[in-house]
Amino acid sequence: MTLKDFFIYLSENRFLNSAAQKYGLRLGAQSVVAGVSIAETVESIKELNKHKISCTVDNLGEFVYEKSEAIEAKNKILEVIQAIHDEKLDAHISLKPSQLGLDIDYDFCKENLRDIVSLANQYNIFVNFDMEDYGRLDKSFELLNELNKEYDNIGTVIQAYFFESEENIERYKDFRLRIVKGAYKEPEDVAYQSKSDIDKNFIKLIEYHLLNGKFTSIATHDHNVINHVKDFVKRNNIPNDKFEFQMLYGFRKDMQYDLAKEGYNFCTYLPFGKDWYGYFMRRLAERPQNLSLVTKQVFNKKTNTVIGLAAASFVLGRLSKKDKVK
Ligand SMILES: Cc1cc2nc3c(=O)[nH]c(=O)nc-3n(C[C@H](O)[C@H](O)[C@H](O)COP(=O)(O)OP(=O)(O)OC[C@H]3O[C@@H](n4cnc5c(N)ncnc54)[C@H](O)[C@@H]3O)c2cc1C
Repeated sequence: MTLKDFFIYLSENRFLNSAAQKYGLRLGAQSVVAGVSIAETVESIKELNKHKISCTVDNLGEFVYEKSEAIEAKNKILEVIQAIHDEKLDAHISLKPSQLGLDIDYDFCKENLRDIVSLANQYNIFVNFDMEDYGRLDKSFELLNELNKEYDNIGTVIQAYFFESEENIERYKDFRLRIVKGAYKEPEDVAYQSKSDIDKNFIKLIEYHLLNGKFTSIATHDHNVINHVKDFVKRNNIPNDKFEFQMLYGFRKDMQYDLAKEGYNFCTYLPFGKDWYGYFMRRLAERPQNLSLVTKQVFNKKTNTVIGLAAASFVLGRLSKKDKVK
């Protein structure tokens, strides 16, 4: 059992997710979540915009199995789009199809996405379809393809750990694409497992899209990749308006400001909302050093109980899986 497995398990734990909401456990998440309300989020965006940093705004949400929850999420995103327009913010939208009902009903999800993309289109605001785990990959691309017949203000994400991303980067070269390493735990028959294989493919995909694609968002906190890209664009005369760097809100803040100051387009991925728990746990899974974000207040009685219960159910879950194998 690795620490990564443990945090991924925590991120998927519905009990902890609702406990986090109910008891308002913040676990240090406030340093990586831009606000709970739209008003707070608008202030965070304005602050970044002052430093020539644009934002891609993500309404946090997990475990959407009821249509009413998906509609609620859609309405929140519509409100954000309206706020971006009204306040003239330098910002666009990132969304997860599962939050808009992909796991409930494909057509229902498509209608929700259409409402969002259509309003954003009226205001000339871009909408990014974030990519989730492998099980949702084909359907997410299908949604993108279908909506692209009507709208051109949409794009998506290519995850470097998937073998099939090499084909997808070619297939979607006419889209604005965000390229990432990949955040979920995926099986070895579909995804590279080693850091060096993922990093190698990441660079390959970035270079391909920079040379052949529409617009590239290089989303990483990895200084080696960033330095490589700086050098690559210089050698290949790729102008600054063809790409941007992206990082998550609250991570490597100094580097975010420095890149913007150096004249590169920079966009901060800005999560907001009450449903911060799964997002925060995935950040801890991919980089346990991020535990330093967890402040002392975590270790109070209430949080210890919840984390203790989680650890116990994690161990029990693994034991029962072993039993089944036997
Ligand atoms: C803007 C954005 C959007 C994303 N969207 C998606 C998505 O739609 N789908 C998806 O699957 N994944 C997404 N991800 C997550 C992504 O796939 C990776 O899981 C995540 O970014 C971690 O990989 P990394 O490239 O940042 O570098 P890592 O491989 O985590 O780190 C490489 C090296 O960089 C340095 N480093 C990294 N982080 C820090 C830090 N905080 N402080 C100091 N040094 C550090 C360390 O030296 C580390 O060894 C997104 C990531 C970003 C930044």
